[in-house]
Amino acid sequence: MTTRNNKGVLVIVSGPSGAGKSTIISRVSQLRPDIRFSVSATTRDPRPGEIDGVNYYFKTQEEFWEMIKLDAFLEHAEYVGNSYGTPAAPVDNDLAQGYNVILDIEVQGAAQVMEKRPDAVSIFLCPPSLEELERRLRGRGTDTEEKIRDRLMAAHREYSQAHKYSYIIINDDADTAVRELDAIITAERCRSKYFLEGENTL
Ligand code: ADP
Ligand code: 5GP
Repeated sequence: MTTRNNKGVLVIVSGPSGAGKSTIISRVSQLRPDIRFSVSATTRDPRPGEIDGVNYYFKTQEEFWEMIKLDAFLEHAEYVGNSYGTPAAPVDNDLAQGYNVILDIEVQGAAQVMEKRPDAVSIFLCPPSLEELERRLRGRGTDTEEKIRDRLMAAHREYSQAHKYSYIIINDDADTAVRELDAIITAERCRSKYFLEGENTL
């Protein structure tokens, strides 16, 4: 018998704020029951419609420091004046149960995960142009003018790291980007290393 092992794929998705990461990840999650989104902790304020425990765990700076002290994070980083971190335990539990776990994290955190988990699959998702990125950030209507400027500045730094990722998705047409993310996860799941070694015969 030929059997796949029951370990999920750890998928890192990075890219400038406003590129469409949340949009594309949430659409792929609706298509695939084998995906779990890693809910991060953050010290930033919730945006309208964001739910604690669903989009993020919203923390005070003190609560965030406490989690760092307890070594609760797989990675953590500062981004545009706020702290963000990936709680480690849920990621490992979900992977062990066979779910493919998606991390939506910025480039410094992604570098930490690539170092700690060389098996992780890394994807850089970018908008078709900087002008379009600015349009999307303004269109989203969730950030002040100052935050939009900070996020556009950060985008330049983030682009300079794109070559460190295994895959790049250009989120121009959303349907195409969803198909590409779905295809990458499927292809990675078919890698021979996910099949039980030595036990596969006809
Ligand atoms: P991120 O999670 O990368 O910060 P979002 O998913 O919040 O980005 O998307 C930013 C804005 O761009 C949202 O208003 C979203 O609806 C819009 N958006 C996402 N993908 C596309 C696309 N392919 N074409 C046009 N607008 C998009
Ligand atoms: P936003 O405030 O727009 O939700 O996210 C800002 C940036 O923080 C995005 O680039 C997003 O990918 C990143 N981010 C979200 N959660 C985490 C996390 O747990 N760790 C790190 N390093 N970055 C994160």
